[in-house]
Amino acid sequence: MTDLTSYSAAELAGLVARGESSAVEVTQAHLDRISAVDDRVHAFLHVDTEGALAAARDVDSRRAAGAALGPLAGVPVAVKDVLTTKGVPTTAGSKILADWRPPYDSTIVRRLRAAGTVMLGKTNMDEFAMGSSTEYSAFGPTHNPWDLSRIPGGSGGGSSAALAAYETPLSIGSDTGGSIRQPGAVTGTVGVKPTYGGTSRYGLVAFSSSLDTPGPCARTVLDAALLHEAIGGHDPLDSTSIPAPVPDVVAAARLGAGGDLTGVRLGVVREFAGEGAEPGVLAAFRAAVETLTKLGAEVVEVSCPHFQYALPAYYLIAPSECSSNLARFDGVRFGLRVGDDGVRSLEEVMSATREAGFGPEVKRRVMLGTYALSSGYYDAYYGQAQKVRTLISRDFTTAFEQVDALISPTTPFVAFPVGARTADPYQMYLADLFTIPSNLYGGPGISVPCGLADGLPVGLQVMAPTMADDRMYRVAAALESAVGPFTPPAL
Ligand code: GLN
Repeated sequence: MTDLTSYSAAELAGLVARGESSAVEVTQAHLDRISAVDDRVHAFLHVDTEGALAAARDVDSRRAAGAALGPLAGVPVAVKDVLTTKGVPTTAGSKILADWRPPYDSTIVRRLRAAGTVMLGKTNMDEFAMGSSTEYSAFGPTHNPWDLSRIPGGSGGGSSAALAAYETPLSIGSDTGGSIRQPGAVTGTVGVKPTYGGTSRYGLVAFSSSLDTPGPCARTVLDAALLHEAIGGHDPLDSTSIPAPVPDVVAAARLGAGGDLTGVRLGVVREFAGEGAEPGVLAAFRAAVETLTKLGAEVVEVSCPHFQYALPAYYLIAPSECSSNLARFDGVRFGLRVGDDGVRSLEEVMSATREAGFGPEVKRRVMLGTYALSSGYYDAYYGQAQKVRTLISRDFTTAFEQVDALISPTTPFVAFPVGARTADPYQMYLADLFTIPSNLYGGPGISVPCGLADGLPVGLQVMAPTMADDRMYRVAAALESAVGPFTPPAL
């Protein structure tokens, strides 16, 4: 690890702004680090060396010309391969999009470029963001820098592993049921699911449109806030984008870093206590609760009785929406086409393309979702799940009448060995136990490192009311200031 790769994004931006390092030097250091370690970590599906150096040169020449630079100018960022990047491969971890180069940038990526950040490349993920370990990527798994024989969480394991491996100081993920927060937790990094609609879905390859939320990943809470500010806010190209400014997450992170939580009321979700989290995870969580109390927070127990139904409701709603969204991969419009020999019918070509292009987990979801939406079953499954979703949202509303934010462990277990849960889908789905409720409700959640169990990182989750993203940054920054830092062993 060279010095430049060990700095935070805030520090790197300062070095570039003061002319103590050039953006090209910063970028080259991270590209070198990727060359040195990514054959073992496999966080990246595509490294855009030329594009990154060109973007860095542009920042350096604008600085030389005296232009005002944004707070993240010259800072490298890696982007989950679920967001479109103009002319740069975008696969969503699937063979069906293996050779696709999108003709346009997603709004998130456009804003990253406008902010002067330097996109290093695209990160590995479970196919179409379906999974909790990055083992369902069609291009092979990502490995956890804390222990290369273990998973980095999912679906956005590439984005979080790249941070823990010091290949990038910032990355972007997408969170439909926990795919930013879980990888954050098990790699000892910070992952944020913003309020649904607080970050644009334009150019995000759709999985479950009523849940999908792009968001920032970083090694520090302040860096996540700076990235959140750069990518967030209203986008007229996304019909569910909230027409309101981003809450002042940067100020909240700075306030929290002072380590004073006096007057903040936090709720521990009672129903999560019996939910089979590993003893090491529970011990680290309890220690973090004590720390939060010492920092001045008042911690009380809160009941959210319907949270126990979140997992089954999600595993009907998300597959239902995915079965509809993935219909667009038909071998006609983009990506892979199989069996187009002039003899086979259109339907045969579609079927052969989808058979060859989708992996087993994606097929399982499409079948589940198609079933749940079919006439005769719609009310019993999809309709019922939507009602449960309403009850979960009401639990949140009631809870936030009593407390400012809710806290829980982010995941029930630490990073597990590669292969340990792939044989039984239900074992994989259990990873989402604590993260799914806030997706169903739409409110923000953050995972911040809170301790170690058996030498592996444990994350604490803070959940806040919709559009109160700043609250969770304050709590997370305060905890961060009191514990850690948690640094993985050298690769
Ligand atoms: N693990 C969950 C799933 O497989 C969540 C995925 C996500 O947030 N993209 O659906």
